[in-house]
This record gives sequence, C-alpha cells and structure tokens, in this order.
Amino acid sequence: MVATTSTISRAFSFTCMFKLCRPLFALSTRTHMESPRVNSALRSPARETHIGDTDDGFITLQEWQGWGAVSPLPALVQQIVEDLKALEKNFDAPMSFGGNGGRLQGDFKILEDKKHRATYQTLGESEKKLQFFTARQIACRLLGSQGYLCQKCWIAMEDCMCSKVKHCSLWYGVRFWLYMHPKDFLRQNNTGKLLWQVLGVQAATLCLYGVAEDEEIMWSAFKRAGKSKVWCLYPNKNAIKMSVQDTLGYGSSEDLEYTPMMTDGDNTLNFVLIDGTWSNSAAMFNRLKEKAKTVWDEEDIPCISLTMGASAMHKLRPQPSWDRTCTAAAAIGLLSELQLLPKFSSCGLDEAVEAIEDALAVLLEALTTRRLRMGRSVTRKARHNLNLW
Ligand SMILES: [Zn+2]
Repeated sequence: MVATTSTISRAFSFTCMFKLCRPLFALSTRTHMESPRVNSALRSPARETHIGDTDDGFITLQEWQGWGAVSPLPALVQQIVEDLKALEKNFDAPMSFGGNGGRLQGDFKILEDKKHRATYQTLGESEKKLQFFTARQIACRLLGSQGYLCQKCWIAMEDCMCSKVKHCSLWYGVRFWLYMHPKDFLRQNNTGKLLWQVLGVQAATLCLYGVAEDEEIMWSAFKRAGKSKVWCLYPNKNAIKMSVQDTLGYGSSEDLEYTPMMTDGDNTLNFVLIDGTWSNSAAMFNRLKEKAKTVWDEEDIPCISLTMGASAMHKLRPQPSWDRTCTAAAAIGLLSELQLLPKFSSCGLDEAVEAIEDALAVLLEALTTRRLRMGRSVTRKARHNLNLW
C-alpha cells in the first residue's frame, strides 16, 4: 500500500509537468492549455506513412473502431484520407508525420496546407467548417499514428501499458460519454481513453466533437433517455448546476429495483464528460447547449457538479494527490459521490472507481517511462516547480 501510494504521488508530480490533468473539474483555478512540453517530451522522430501500405489504402472500419470509436468510419474522415492519398500520389511527396499526433511535416505539409486552406475557404457554413476541421484533424492523427501508437492505450507501442490495465464492468445504470475534442484524439496523455479501456466502450463511449456520425449516436441515446437522464459535468458558472446529491440523492435502492433502469438501457443515467482543453471546452459546451435546444427546446443542457471535497474522496481510498483535474478523475469523483448515496451503494461503483484509479496510475507510469526513454530526465527541482502550478 505504501508503495502504491508513493507511486501515485510521484506520478502526480509528473501530472503537472505533462499537463496531463486538465482541470476541467477543478473548482475555480483552471488554467490548462496544451503544453509544448508534452509534445516535446513525447515526441518521436518524423515518421513517413504510406497509406498504400494498408490493405485497401484507406482506414478500415476495424481500424477506426480499434481506436475506441463505436461509430461507422465517418464519411468526411474517409474522404480526407482519400484526398491525402491522392495528393501524395500526384505530387510524389511522401506523407510525413511527427510530434505527438498527426502533425504533417516537410514538403507534403506545405502542399497539404495550401489545399486544405483553399477547401476551408469554400465552405460557407460554420457547421461545415467545424466538421471539416474535425475530420482533417482526425484523418491526420489516424494516419500519423498507424504502426506507431498502440490502438488500445494510445501509447507508443514500445511503451504499451495494456497488459497492466485491469478491466472492470460498470453498473449498467450509468453511462459515460467522452465528448472529445479532435485535438485530444489519440493523444498519449489523454485520460478519457482510460474510461473505455477499463469499463468498455458501451459504458464509456467516445463521441468526437464535430463528427456527425458520433454526435448522432450520442444524441439518439439522449433522446431515448430523455432530458431528465442526461447531465453534463461542466463547471460553467452560468449554467444551472445541481450536485449529485440534489440530482440523484432522492429515493432508496428499492426504487432502483423497481424501475426499468435495471433492465432497460434507455433509462440509463447518461453523464457527458467534456474532454478537451479549457480553451476548447467552452465551444464544446456551447455545441451541446445548442443541440439540447433543438432536441428539447430548452436553452440549457442539465449540468451536474461535484461537491465532494478532496478529503472526502480520500476516505474512500487514501491518495495524497487526487484532485478532479482530469477527465478520468472527474469520472472517479462522480462515481465516488454516487457510491455514497444509499440508493447506489450496492451497485459496485466503488470497484469501478478503484479500477480507474489504478489505470490512471498505470498511465502516469507509462508516460514517465516514455519521457525517460526519450532521454528527458525529470529532476526533483523541476517536479517541485511544476507542482506549484
Ligand atoms: Zn497498449
């Protein structure tokens, strides 16, 4: 236990350095941005990807869903992959990627930049622009990660952490939706991916912001569930927020036994976790609100806030450094608060909490190992300074 605690403590020291924890759910001190450090720390040499190396030259459905998606391969992503392939062929400029994710490099980047900017200009509607932006981000990340990242854990293959992650089923009355910004897709230090890695894609479902196919699946589920069974965990000051206790604290476990919730997936409690940097998450939240307006004719999507202090969370499992500053930790916080309500006390949510906590520690260890592998030592001083953030 002591060893575990110390590991986690050390891991959380790295957390700030990697900016792993984007404080989406911290109380009032959210300051995160994508950090250049992350990219440089995890950067690998430029990689050339020849799409022609894959069986049919494109991203397959199997490959797409292998990364954690549940939707069919988005049409726009497929189209952009085809366009990239055609560009590579016509100009005989090899596609080259570098950095953390799908950053094009070299001559191909210059060519593609011109082309995609021209395409973007022709798109009038902001909706079309968003969908194009998202699809391009995703297409580049998919191509740049082929043969480089492990599909399941999104970590470079040589540091794959999959064998250390324990799976755990989540009580089927709860479902998470990871509403993820495309810039966070296939990021090694993303923590949202841990949720479906641990709980499975039906319990924690990826929905990429601006991907029509993904958003359609999510909103279809919300329509079936009804507004009273959908909440967004988002600390928007202007949104009307309810605590977990206010929202779900009524009734007893007997109520659960006699509600269709136990047998009918449409009565599942749906929780949206916005998985994006602070600067991107406001736009993501607005998109949810706009959609909620068209679906339910109401201005706001219901929001829920976590109220449990760190000390209360520590009672569940002593952790020196836990806070609710990353997506996985937000899920941990929510499940922990639900667990304390009598109604949910026998749903086994504490087991899911423990499994996600373990996976988070494994991820932090993997990122640490990777950083060291890339020749970047981490000094005590650096850790200390970064801990002040
Ligand atoms: Zn892996």
